[in-house]
Amino acid sequence: MSIIDKTKFDFSVAATSSEAAGQTAVVRNETSTTVLHVALKSPEAWIDVYPAEFALAPRSAQTVAIRLAPENSRDALVPASVKLFGQFLHVNANETGHVPPDVSIDLKIVPPAANCPICGTLLPEQARECKRCGERIRLCPVCAAPNTWVARTCRLNGSHVIRTEVDWLTSPGGDSVHGAPATIKLGPQLARKWSLPTFAPTRAADIYEWSAPLAAFGMLFASAIDTVGNRSFVQAFEMATGAALWDLELPDPKGVYPDRGSMALSTDGILYVATLGGHVTAIDAVRGTLKWSEKFAGTVYGGAVIPTSSNGKSGELLLVPIGDSLTIINRLNGKEIRRHELGARLDTAPCASNVAAYVADEDGIVIALDLGDGRELWRATLDGAFDAAPILRDGVLYAATMSGTVYALDASTGAERWQSRATVKPVAVSPALSADGLLYVAADDGSLHIIAADTGNLVRSRKLSNAPLRNSPVTGGGTVFLGADDGNIYSVDADYGVHLAYETSAGSRIAGAGLAMYGNLIAFSSTNGVLYVLEAKS
Ligand SMILES: [Zn+2]
Ligand SMILES: [Zn+2]
Repeated sequence: MSIIDKTKFDFSVAATSSEAAGQTAVVRNETSTTVLHVALKSPEAWIDVYPAEFALAPRSAQTVAIRLAPENSRDALVPASVKLFGQFLHVNANETGHVPPDVSIDLKIVPPAANCPICGTLLPEQARECKRCGERIRLCPVCAAPNTWVARTCRLNGSHVIRTEVDWLTSPGGDSVHGAPATIKLGPQLARKWSLPTFAPTRAADIYEWSAPLAAFGMLFASAIDTVGNRSFVQAFEMATGAALWDLELPDPKGVYPDRGSMALSTDGILYVATLGGHVTAIDAVRGTLKWSEKFAGTVYGGAVIPTSSNGKSGELLLVPIGDSLTIINRLNGKEIRRHELGARLDTAPCASNVAAYVADEDGIVIALDLGDGRELWRATLDGAFDAAPILRDGVLYAATMSGTVYALDASTGAERWQSRATVKPVAVSPALSADGLLYVAADDGSLHIIAADTGNLVRSRKLSNAPLRNSPVTGGGTVFLGADDGNIYSVDADYGVHLAYETSAGSRIAGAGLAMYGNLIAFSSTNGVLYVLEAKS
């Protein structure tokens, strides 16, 4: 593909013309008596023009070289414009009335379709990876241009859709949405797409303790501790196929707390892993390379959370529950910004809006903190300790205690809107909130309690299992999925019918805080040491 899109040329100015051939442009002065001064300005660091300034005598031409310099850019090379300014200087005073106006000609520079979207290196056809910068490449299904794995639309043409699935950026807790869009209709049964290993290990020493996985960018991220206990790592897979993409050993052999620990992923593709020993590690999620790792004082049970900015992208803060504190970290460099000492242990992830963080501690106290200046906004004392991270939507905070009470609090004042006592058994996992306003609460009584989020009225209770439900539910298209401590995944359909959706090994538990969804795929891990990806039929 030519680097210059000729269709964008404007030759309508009479005395001037410009044309492009290959990687050069020709600027011609067709006047008979006027000197043309030309200044070329590149709007992008990766486009070089030479010469950038010159004067053209009447009836002469200048060839300008346009060179792509991807080494000058860390951003994707996208079509861009070079503006050519032409300025006419009088040489004959008698022609005053006939001097043409100044001109500006746009040349549209289209990067070669086959270069790396990050570093600009030319890629071989069908390349799936850039050998120079390590970026994983996804080919546009429409025009085959190489794109990053994070991209949703093609960098060469925004109307080319690369993927539509919702990115599951946070493990259960702290995720205000916690469901797939209702437009995807998922049936109640699940079939195995792939698993790792294929079958549950029979030797205890071969069992990995996986934490709750994340699904985003068409990839699945999961962390694990090996049973011997001297090593922990994060692994990434292609979600659709199970192909291993990378793995990285973590600096903390204790790893992510298998029950409630979790990872967080930013919209720009950085994975944050907070481990039991107080290490926080940032990893380039696409390439599997280490960005930074810092050690903090205290034990981490809950997961890290990244507040979303008002533009829908990840902000610069990372919130990590460490010991008795909520620690606020600059996620770009790992430096601590602030540490809020809370007076009791945090066993679970915080949740956050773009202006406030909410933590729920072991004393049953919910505290709201201003993300800007760190001041405490309000606190509310509820009836039990928290293992479940609160969730937030539309200015309402939903929090469930180990005494079984579910509260709805005004997120700006802490005032109670309602409380529900659908169960007296502990609620140890975050509820899920569906797009149509139903709160799904999984309890230790083995039942899923469905509560109207606006009123707190109990809509239905459905007994799923004799074992506790310690796996945060996920909702997708009217169907709710969750795991139980009997090793099974259950689903509840739109008519509140209960289905045994999938069985793992008898005697195991569905591990980690919950499931991750990506399109019609559902990922989770079991204490039998297997990481599963199941497919829901629509
Ligand atoms: Zn590259
Ligand atoms: Zn395309």
